[in-house]
Amino acid sequence: MQIQFDNSYARLPERFYARQAPTPVPRPELIRLNAELASTLGIDARWLGSEEGVAMLAGNATPDGADPLAQAYAGHQFGGFVPQLGDGRALLLGEVVDTAGDRRDVQLKGSGRTPFSRGGDGKSALGPVIREYVVSEAMAALGVPTTRALAAVATGEQVARQQGPEPGGVFTRVAASHIRVGTFQYFIARRDHDAIRALADHAIARHYPDVAGSPAPYRALLERVVTAQAGLIAHWLSLGFIHGVMNTDNTTVSGETIDYGPCAFMDDFQARKVFSSIDRGGRYAWGNQPEIGLWNLTRFAETLLPLLADVESEAIASAEQVLQGYSGQFSAAFGRRFRAKLGLAAEVDGERIQACLDLLERQQVDFTLFFGRLTDVARGGEVEPLRALFSDPAAFESWFATWKDDTQSGARVDDMRAANPIRIPRNHRVEEAIQGAYRGDYAAFHRLVDGLASPYTADDAYADLELPPQPEEVVHQTFCGT
Ligand code: AMP
Ligand code: MG
Repeated sequence: MQIQFDNSYARLPERFYARQAPTPVPRPELIRLNAELASTLGIDARWLGSEEGVAMLAGNATPDGADPLAQAYAGHQFGGFVPQLGDGRALLLGEVVDTAGDRRDVQLKGSGRTPFSRGGDGKSALGPVIREYVVSEAMAALGVPTTRALAAVATGEQVARQQGPEPGGVFTRVAASHIRVGTFQYFIARRDHDAIRALADHAIARHYPDVAGSPAPYRALLERVVTAQAGLIAHWLSLGFIHGVMNTDNTTVSGETIDYGPCAFMDDFQARKVFSSIDRGGRYAWGNQPEIGLWNLTRFAETLLPLLADVESEAIASAEQVLQGYSGQFSAAFGRRFRAKLGLAAEVDGERIQACLDLLERQQVDFTLFFGRLTDVARGGEVEPLRALFSDPAAFESWFATWKDDTQSGARVDDMRAANPIRIPRNHRVEEAIQGAYRGDYAAFHRLVDGLASPYTADDAYADLELPPQPEEVVHQTFCGT
């Protein structure tokens, strides 16, 4: 056996999924393999890159021990509940226990129709495959909990999309699990309380095993998920990341970022910034993400009510207590991250953070460059490159004087370096990688993945990746992978 699968999800009741083989594709071609990740999964990267391995990655062969299935889930999409979504273009091949002892899902995305495909073709175009590879690996390198990219393959076939036919691809995603808030919602919508209990027990065993022995394990599960999501969203905000499609089916119980559809990193800072072409109301704007996080967690809590207490009013009171903790946890995490970005001590008033963000917004300053150059200043570098980011020098000087006062005893340079990446996956670079891939040229894609692998370390070879777009390069909108 090339991969040691151990498929715990497939051992859950049959109504949790639909067994489904992937659909073969005409001419699989490996684009990129994540050899490092493969080896932590105990998979021989040379084998994975061989004809046999690539056949698996393309869905043309099912390896021994795999048990491919499409998972059932529901979800609120832009606030509206859809009782059945499910893996319509993805298949869980199986699970492996990695070298650290952690269980990981191995999932193919774009591997053909499933019973959950509804009107869709079950396929993926190459663009979304490239985007997810670049951004999810960049997020991992940035230190953000995230699903990972194991491989990208081109299928040699065209898929029909709104803008016309596009080359197809299959993405192999690795995740702590694919259990979503929407997975719980699928069962609560069917009043299937046995399934909710089985799923909660499975999620606890998998992600929060230490709460299993607690006197109130399901409440503890809710607490853990609230904490994980509060921390995750604060982390996103600190990097200028906009998820773009924070639906409950894209909210994991593990606390990993999932679904890199219309996501984007901001260039110049705007709290209300939105990129997704389908987010017309700005529901998932940068600054709305904390509030949406709580909304999604409230939907999660609702699914757990039958497990929290026998009497409904007690269950609701218990859930509300836990949810009330969210805002404090988010604020604390947000404050810690932005204090680190600014090199401020814990005692410095949190209002300084908002004042800085307001200034960046008014002056349309590039978020990543600002914090990078501020870090350089804290390390004894010139002020001029920082000042040059501002169109109004007076506004900068007055802010800068306050910052110097606040950091009189020295800015916390190590905190700043660890919190302020030099390179992020800027949209125009992601777009360039996608456009190259559509021409069959993967050079820009490979270079981008390589350049983003150590985002906190200065590297002249990738200096161009630090820069914001030229006016003609600005990407205004991103599109879902559908
Ligand atoms: P997402 O936008 O990835 O969160 O997907 C939302 C839902 O639409 C999920 O149930 C997907 O499986 C389904 N879906 C998206 N694209 C396709 C497609 N091309 N074919 C079938 N189902 C799809
Ligand atoms: Mg999704």
